Amino acid sequence: MRKKLAAGNWKMNGLLENLSEIKSLAATAQNSNCQVLICPPAPLIHAMAQISGDIAVGGQTCHANESGAHTGDTSANLLADCGATYVILGHSERRADHGETDTDIRAKTKAAWGAGLTAIVCIGESLAERKASNTLDIIGGQLSTSVPDNATGENLVVAYEPIWAIGTGLTPTLDQIGEVHDFIRARLERRFGQGVGRSVRILYGGSMNPKNAADIADVSNVDGGLVGGASLKAADFSIIIKALG
Ligand code: PEP
Repeated sequence: MRKKLAAGNWKMNGLLENLSEIKSLAATAQNSNCQVLICPPAPLIHAMAQISGDIAVGGQTCHANESGAHTGDTSANLLADCGATYVILGHSERRADHGETDTDIRAKTKAAWGAGLTAIVCIGESLAERKASNTLDIIGGQLSTSVPDNATGENLVVAYEPIWAIGTGLTPTLDQIGEVHDFIRARLERRFGQGVGRSVRILYGGSMNPKNAADIADVSNVDGGLVGGASLKAADFSIIIKALG
């Protein structure tokens, strides 16, 4: 099994001065069994990658095309050129704010793979979908459309992020997390074979914090976390990294 992954999503937070958080994380990352990753806003990627040492750096999205007339967008190749090795794709905020669909995410994932990046493909249900007992149907559909063929344990990470848990302080029960992660694992094994299906890391994301990280880390098929708010401060994220590792 690959190392667990502690991934921080800074979203639209952080300035150049906040690169110091990376320096504060260095010792924790060096002594951890986890791969630590920070995904800052795109303009910070290059500077962060210069000083990140053992900490991997990633983007928060990329365009599906290699280049062209797409004002304001960033290609996967440029992310890689700037030092990124991962990219988050299909985050629910991108789906909501930019209308990204599963088909778009599939195309972006192919672009990410073309640039040698590991794609962290985010999937998750809304509160209404959970209340209607549709969670597994939604997750299954997102997984099959968003993830292209030819996935491997190297090029793909799946992040289960219930939309209603992101930034809310709410989390599913440990049983609910386990149910979804087991389901994702089974689907990956069915589609890509047992070897690949077992080697793809499945992250939990949604209000993970220093207090709940250890319990979530113990759930079956949780191979790490995708952490938003609690990744902004090195002190908090370090506790989560230790809990995951
Ligand atoms: C996220 O944005 O991916 C996330 C999980 O956010 P938070 O940890 O703040 O809920």
